[in-house]
Amino acid sequence: MTGCQNEPAQPCCDLSSSHCPKFSARQSLLIRDDAYGVDEASHPRIAAQLMASPHAQKLQIVVNRRSSQQPQHIYRYFRDLGATFLQFIPLVETEDSGSLSPASVQPEEWGAFLVAVFDLWVREDMGKIRVHHFDCALNIWRGHPAQIACDGAALPNECRECMVYRFCHGDCPKHRIASGKSALCAGYRHFFTYSAPHMKAMRDLLKQRRSPIELMALLKRSQ
Ligand code: SF4
Repeated sequence: MTGCQNEPAQPCCDLSSSHCPKFSARQSLLIRDDAYGVDEASHPRIAAQLMASPHAQKLQIVVNRRSSQQPQHIYRYFRDLGATFLQFIPLVETEDSGSLSPASVQPEEWGAFLVAVFDLWVREDMGKIRVHHFDCALNIWRGHPAQIACDGAALPNECRECMVYRFCHGDCPKHRIASGKSALCAGYRHFFTYSAPHMKAMRDLLKQRRSPIELMALLKRSQ
């Protein structure tokens, strides 16, 4: 995915620990809790860590298998804490057998997670909060080149012939499985296909020099 260049490079606030490292000249705060997921039990720790960070409005959130099953909860929680930028980073770990680890997000769940967050964002929060995957997809719909840091030379034909290739580019090489495509392939296909009508509507509004935020009102009226 185009987020390849955005692999976690930020200081990590590990929520399984009571210690939060100091954040200095960084731009955002990485939220990761591989052991427990971001659930109600971790809220006090998250809130305390965010308050201690100068970058609490720009968050990178690692999504593991457990947290992938709570998309609305995760999104609303960080939105209501005042975040203005969210980047969701899927946890993808492969075992020696080649299968995903139990903590890893599953492809279908990753797609469902992105779709559920998109549905909330496009109806409630456009203009208030930015979500990295949505920004990237809209930029590509508008004709801007994808920000790719990955070499696509080794991608299988399935990727090169894929309908969502221009958005996904086979995902980050770290996430690819033996077939050469992403372990999260099904999820990306689902999300980019599902979001396409709304993305096209936003692109068309922008072409008419109108705000894409008008889509929120249009969706409300159609409910
Ligand atoms: S086939 Fe899968 S991994 Fe390859 S570009 Fe399409 S969605 Fe991405």
